[in-house]
Amino acid sequence: MWMVQEGRLEQVLKDIDAKKEDMITLAKKLISYETPAPPARNTADAQAFVQDYLNDCAFTTEKWDVYPNDPNVVGTKKGHDSSHFQSLIINGHMDVAEVRPDENWETDPFDPIVKENRLMGRGAADMKGGLAASLFVLRLFHEQGIELSGDVIFQSVIGEEVGEAGTLQCCRRGYTADFALVVDTSHLHIQGQGGVVTGWITIKDPQTYHDANRRQMIHAGGRHAPGGKRHREDDGDDREPADPGAPLGSFEALSRLSAGNEHHQSRGHRRGKTCGFYCR
Ligand SMILES: [Zn+2]
Repeated sequence: MWMVQEGRLEQVLKDIDAKKEDMITLAKKLISYETPAPPARNTADAQAFVQDYLNDCAFTTEKWDVYPNDPNVVGTKKGHDSSHFQSLIINGHMDVAEVRPDENWETDPFDPIVKENRLMGRGAADMKGGLAASLFVLRLFHEQGIELSGDVIFQSVIGEEVGEAGTLQCCRRGYTADFALVVDTSHLHIQGQGGVVTGWITIKDPQTYHDANRRQMIHAGGRHAPGGKRHREDDGDDREPADPGAPLGSFEALSRLSAGNEHHQSRGHRRGKTCGFYCR
C-alpha cells in the first residue's frame, strides 16, 4: 500500500480531465514514431523520447539495445520507504503490428487523427495509448510533488508483436517488483496473466510424410482437448483450439502445437520435423 498526500491525489484526478488534450497529444506523438514489427529494429527514436520523458519526471533511467536499433527503456523512481512498502512495474511495448497492404486505412496510420471521439492510428490501442496514459499520469504525479512510499519501475519494451523477449530482458537485468501492470488493450479490465511459452520442437522419425498425408501424422497434443471434447480424427486442421485455460506445461496445453505448418513443410524432406508452438 502506498501513502500519498490525499489533496494532491485529488488534484491529479482533476488534472486528468483538465489536461486530457496533453495526453492525446502524447499518444499521437508515440504513434507518429513508425515502429511496426515486422520489420522491427526501428524503435530507437521512440525509446529515446520515452527516456527523456521519464528523466523529466525525475526517474532514473536506463536504455540498452536488445537488438540493434531496438532498445528497452526502464525508468525507476525509488519510494521514500521502499523496504516497508510494495513496488510496482508498469510495462508496455513500443512495437506495433505491421501494416499490411490490404488494410483499409483512410489516412496514414502513423499520422494519427481523432475521429468520432476515437484516436486512430497504428498502435493507438495496442499499445501506445496505454503507454501514453501511464506516462501522462507519472508526469501528473511529478508535477504535484507526490512521493510514493514504494518503488515504481516503468518499462517500455520492444519485441512483443513478433515474440521477442524485451520484457524478459528486463527481468534478467534485475528489474523485479511485487506487482506488475501491463497496460495492453483490455477495456480497462485488470486481468491476470498466466504467461506464454513459445518455441520450437524437433521430432525425429524414420518416416516422412507430405502434408497432404497429414492423417497419417501424429497430431501434437493428442486427440483430446481439455473438457473431454473429441477432435475430428480425419483432418487435424478442423480441430477446435484447446481451452486457453489449460494448465501450462500440461499435455493438453500443448494442443496448440501446429503440425504441418510452413516451417514443417519446408523441412518435410528431412528426417527431423520442426513445429512451432505457442501456448498460454
Ligand atoms: Zn500489445
